Amino acid sequence: MSRPLRVGGMVPLTTLDYPGKLACVVFCQGCAWRCRYCHNPQLIAPRGSDELEWSQVLAFLQRRQGLLEAVVFSGGEPTLQDSLRGAMEEVRALGFQVGLHSAGIKPAAFAKALSGADWVGFDVKALAEDCQAITRVVGSGAANWRSLEHLLASGVEYECRTTVHWHLFEPERLLILARRLHRLGVRRFAVQRVRTARMLDPQLPGISLQASLPELWQTLGELFAEFVLRD
Ligand code: SF4
Repeated sequence: MSRPLRVGGMVPLTTLDYPGKLACVVFCQGCAWRCRYCHNPQLIAPRGSDELEWSQVLAFLQRRQGLLEAVVFSGGEPTLQDSLRGAMEEVRALGFQVGLHSAGIKPAAFAKALSGADWVGFDVKALAEDCQAITRVVGSGAANWRSLEHLLASGVEYECRTTVHWHLFEPERLLILARRLHRLGVRRFAVQRVRTARMLDPQLPGISLQASLPELWQTLGELFAEFVLRD
């Protein structure tokens, strides 16, 4: 039997993290990548200083049956924990829809988690050849894009999202990335402008300025059935 899910924190109520549903977010502890702009650096280590017991989370969810509609497993990188799949089943048995936020760090583990999810917010870091400059991990681009293929083949509802810090991303590369996603059949794409208040890499500029890019956003809006620009 696998160990209980390591949970680094929780947001008890959100309307933003699962489309159209009242949800809570469970932040899974631990990540294998080191994205320079990561805004949850406290969730990267395998063990956190403010962990919740999984049994506490379940007790909370039992009290919210009939009030909340979905539970989103976020991180960190949830799919790195063997116990995620079982935790998803427990949540489903309580009557909740299951959401997953992931960057698909390990494609086989991601594919396994995918089979337990109703909706996925999938983090496309960058073009595969550009990923390492963000994640600082060799091979991260291949893993990220392999997992994306699993997602698109699965039929599970999803949104692809890319976080942009303009110090790490050229607008031209974002356009190439979007066209590549379009060719793969991605229909829902969001660009999220980075939150600079807290980032893993202290060397990264605290501002992410770029001239307004109306033509780029218009082109992206035409490429996808649904496109969102998010701050
Ligand atoms: S932003 Fe990067 S380092 Fe931070 S949790 Fe996500 S994948 Fe891991």
